[in-house]
Amino acid sequence: MQRTLVFITLFALAVVLATAVSTWVTWQGVAGALESEFEQRLGRIAATAAREIGPADLAEARLREEGGGYLSLQVQLVTLRASTGVAGASLLDSAGVTVVDARESEFTEGLPSVLATLAGPALRRALRGETVVSAPYRHQGVLLRAGFAPVRDEQGRVLGAVAVELAPAYLPVVSRLGRTLLLIAVATMLAVLLLAAIVVRGAWSAARLERRLSRAQNLAAMGRLTATLAHEIKNPLAIIRGSAQRLGRLEPEARRMADFVVEETDRLSRTVARYLEFARGSEVDGAAETGDAALALGATLDLLEGELRAREVTLERAGRFEAAPVALDNESLKQLYLNLILNALEAMPRGGHLAVSLTERAGRIEIGITDDGVGIAPGILKRLGSPFFTTRATGSGLGIFLARRLAESAGGELRIQSEVGRGTTCTVRFPMKRSQGGT
Ligand code: ADP
Ligand code: MG
Repeated sequence: MQRTLVFITLFALAVVLATAVSTWVTWQGVAGALESEFEQRLGRIAATAAREIGPADLAEARLREEGGGYLSLQVQLVTLRASTGVAGASLLDSAGVTVVDARESEFTEGLPSVLATLAGPALRRALRGETVVSAPYRHQGVLLRAGFAPVRDEQGRVLGAVAVELAPAYLPVVSRLGRTLLLIAVATMLAVLLLAAIVVRGAWSAARLERRLSRAQNLAAMGRLTATLAHEIKNPLAIIRGSAQRLGRLEPEARRMADFVVEETDRLSRTVARYLEFARGSEVDGAAETGDAALALGATLDLLEGELRAREVTLERAGRFEAAPVALDNESLKQLYLNLILNALEAMPRGGHLAVSLTERAGRIEIGITDDGVGIAPGILKRLGSPFFTTRATGSGLGIFLARRLAESAGGELRIQSEVGRGTTCTVRFPMKRSQGGT
């Protein structure tokens, strides 16, 4: 079960991760292809223009005289701009000063080119002899990239560089594609996570069902065990009872003790009979009977008085211990209380304080049994009430289970709250039974 959950979770995470990675790789691939195509194109335009510029024209143009080399370069660059659709074309000298600019609107010639600051690294590499394309930059609100190609003399020395600028039209496409892919990836991941959550929930409830089934099997086993045990006890009990009765008649002095034995045997027989009934599957049929939750509580506490004193446990009774009719016979009520109070005493091996209260509110009777003993750890608290669950070497693990069954058979409930080191409170709630049958 645990392993299935781990597997499903890991699988879902792997799918999510794979989706994220493959989306990213796809996007990077497309962006890379578009970018390299753009760079090749811009580099080719710059290199072609640079090859067509003669060193003599450049030398002449640097004198910045109208006519001659300057004019021919101007025509060349304007033509280049018109034929290729680049946003700007200019010729820079080896110091980065603009010699010819194809943009008529700007008077930049003779001044250091703005490209020296906007695309400095690329320009410097071009002036060292490389054909390069700059990173994107923004000039007067427009996003551009510049391609540079060196202009050389006959000896191959770099005299300057041609610069062509072009808006990277692929960038908005790439970012739009990125957004779309991100959307698809997020949707896929959400779908996978949702699916995994559904599967995990299914597996979880299947496991819960399995647990419940095994608890039912436990119960059935307990029933069989109890039936056998009860049967085994019943016969010797009958013999003990008969013998005690005869003993009492034969030996008048032993009469009182013999009576006591008979009384206790009868009590034991009744208990065994109840367990047998229980084990046969017929719920403790308390609903037919009426007991007094207050009277039984008082009797149980009176019974335990000596035990409490011996264990140095102080008792505090709160609330009203008067008639409190509930749908459970007194014998079962005493058994219920006894189980809870004995647990409380066992939790206070060095003495302590036991507070027992009985209150009536809105047609319900509530009994609280609070000790200041060792308390119960949360992990154990959750499992309390499963048959045979005990932390004690000699425990049966049936006390709370039976107490709860008895309370529930009368339409009531048992709740346990506890804090380690501070103590435990068991609360039993019963609906009050109407004295005359009722509806
Ligand atoms: P048993 O008493 O035979 O162990 P129970 O069903 O009566 O079986 O109790 C189950 C377990 O619950 C006990 O072993 C003990 O660990 C814990 N427990 C019950 N009541 C208390 C309490 N008042 N304080 C601390 N632990 C308790
Ligand atoms: Mg117990």
